[in-house]
Amino acid sequence: MAPISRRSFATGFPLGILGGGALPFTASTPSVAQAPSAVGVTPLAQIRVGRFTVTALTDGYADMPYTFFPGRTPTEVEQAATAQFVARSSGVRFVFNQYLIDDGERKILLDTGPAGSIGQTGALPQAFAALGLRRDQIDAVIVTHMHQDHMGGLIAGGQNNFPNADVYIDRRDVSHWTDPAKQNGAPDYLQTSFKMATDVVRLCPRLQAIDGPREIARGISIVDLTGHTPGHIGVRIEDAGRSLIMVSDMIFPVVHPSATDVNFLFEQDRAAAKAMRDRFFPLAAAEGALIAATHMPFPGLGRIVTDRGKMRWDVADWALQS
Ligand SMILES: [Zn+2]
Repeated sequence: MAPISRRSFATGFPLGILGGGALPFTASTPSVAQAPSAVGVTPLAQIRVGRFTVTALTDGYADMPYTFFPGRTPTEVEQAATAQFVARSSGVRFVFNQYLIDDGERKILLDTGPAGSIGQTGALPQAFAALGLRRDQIDAVIVTHMHQDHMGGLIAGGQNNFPNADVYIDRRDVSHWTDPAKQNGAPDYLQTSFKMATDVVRLCPRLQAIDGPREIARGISIVDLTGHTPGHIGVRIEDAGRSLIMVSDMIFPVVHPSATDVNFLFEQDRAAAKAMRDRFFPLAAAEGALIAATHMPFPGLGRIVTDRGKMRWDVADWALQS
């Protein structure tokens, strides 16, 4: 194995956040020029958690209309966005962060982005190129749930883009998203996810449906965060007294964690999603857990803190973590 941390990073990538302008190549580099220019830059951010190196990558972004947040009126969501200085006429901007975990032996990718199926996305291959990494070098892919924005990159182009990877997905999601009866009863905006889920099962022979919390490699554990989808999971890594929990869609920008009674349109069981947020947010705040969240502003690292009786998101200093 040629660990990215020893090759690319030893040759000029400092720890921290890199924008495209800081990368040691220009647009004339073929792999960059040919990649979808979804975001114009290839942001990368890297931290160490004990013996783990975690790199945040992003596939791009999409703006979610203010009407997509059941539990609040569009006006209320827009007002909240305005108060946080992030209001856009097109809605709440969601980024699509992926996390690459390197334990020194294996490279494990958490989620694969929408790959062009939503918004301005499809930049994950560009991020891999910036790291000097090929997708066939990934040993495992964990899909936190079977929404299109988390599994699109796995099977974009109708092929398995991570041919050497074990693919881990919670069994409840595999069952739900490949069930024709569930698909028939689902709204239009979920149909792409149902179709992609079928493709994942068909194209990924190394799919391992997982049942509940377990360690999939030393120090890398699946966390049950059911609610957003039936088999929504997170991943906790822990070493040498340090930990990081990647929580996928537990937290959305603008509306969380200050409230738990606001959902996202794609959540079919809103009560279950709320129940998990009611449990998770106070626990995470009490623990002071370092969190990485898929849709929070890149690189999605922060903590849930209690501030005068209210929960709020506290952005963590990614660049100086060590
Ligand atoms: Zn998502």
